[in-house]
Amino acid sequence: MFHMKSSSRTASTSGSYEVSAVNDTNALYDIYQAIRDVPDFPKPGIVFKDITPLLLEPASFRRVIELMAAPFRASHVTRVVSIESRGFLLGAPIALTLDAGLVPIRKPGKLPAATGRVEYALEYGTDALEMHQDAVSGRDRVLIVDDVLATGGTAEAAAKLVRTHGAAVVGFTFLIELDFLKGRGRLRGERIEALLHYA
Ligand code: AMP
Repeated sequence: MFHMKSSSRTASTSGSYEVSAVNDTNALYDIYQAIRDVPDFPKPGIVFKDITPLLLEPASFRRVIELMAAPFRASHVTRVVSIESRGFLLGAPIALTLDAGLVPIRKPGKLPAATGRVEYALEYGTDALEMHQDAVSGRDRVLIVDDVLATGGTAEAAAKLVRTHGAAVVGFTFLIELDFLKGRGRLRGERIEALLHYA
């Protein structure tokens, strides 16, 4: 089952928010329709939320960026930290929208300069994420961006890595939240926004 945000806000040109629930509901429905479910990818039992059809629709893609950025317009975000790899596709335009720097968080061994690293538990084994050490500092206010919030392990690890570097995490913005996996519970106390929810 699918539902949208109960109240959606869009940024006005003055930088404040205005409620435009009807327009947003129409836009969110178009966005929802542009996301493809791919069953049994990358392994049996997983329904993969494929955002590539959305990327082919400039009007819906642009709306996604506006709506994901809008709740944080007044949060003085200085860095948008995006998670490999689909997070980059959303994080880059969100960073430009918020006039913030863009920081990639990547799987180990991909970033060329000195990195900080965080390890996190998977269902079987562990994984790790890396970020350039000089990408954030104690002066930064960070928004973390990814396409999907599932169990929350990846987002939790990203926040830990950012905080290890002394920066403040002002929140998380996702295109999709898989509510049934309860990732939000793992990020208790954090500010979390998601456009589309799947129960
Ligand atoms: P998690 O750590 O469980 O919250 O997983 C989040 C990461 O895995 C994100 O980077 C997502 O891109 C990816 N992911 C998890 N589940 C899905 C799914 N059903 N469809 C697409 N991506 C997913």
